[in-house]
Amino acid sequence: MTGQTAKIESRCGGCGGTLVRQVNQFIDCGQLWWDAEVSCGSCGAGWCEHSGPGKAPEDVRSALLAKHGPSRLRVVGPVPSLVSVLKVLREVWEVSLPQARELADELTDTGLVGTLAETEFLKTRLRSRGVAAEVGSDAGPEGERIPP
Ligand SMILES: [Zn+2]
Repeated sequence: MTGQTAKIESRCGGCGGTLVRQVNQFIDCGQLWWDAEVSCGSCGAGWCEHSGPGKAPEDVRSALLAKHGPSRLRVVGPVPSLVSVLKVLREVWEVSLPQARELADELTDTGLVGTLAETEFLKTRLRSRGVAAEVGSDAGPEGERIPP
């Protein structure tokens, strides 16, 4: 299972202790899922959030990106059908056609950046429609790095 987890700390509204929100994003049963478990170590308060398929909210995404760094998805080789790419993008991101066209341009050019689960999920969906794609870390190729 491909997925990532991160912890977001805040103040517990009940006792003033530290509330830890563990957020998870992963691929399960062919779907992109996210969920969160919230717990307070001081008063024992705790609950679960969401636990289902769908796009993760921005605070969850940014916590995952901050902890693990972004991944980059690129289409490799010639695109057999742009329509397939647009279809996948619209299904996965629920975007308009003009937005899907912009994303498709990025995908075939510099690559699309997102969390590991998001880019892996998109990769699988593209491959199922015959579009070859690869996920790499967002760091550039070794040769492009400026030595310290
Ligand atoms: Zn508490």
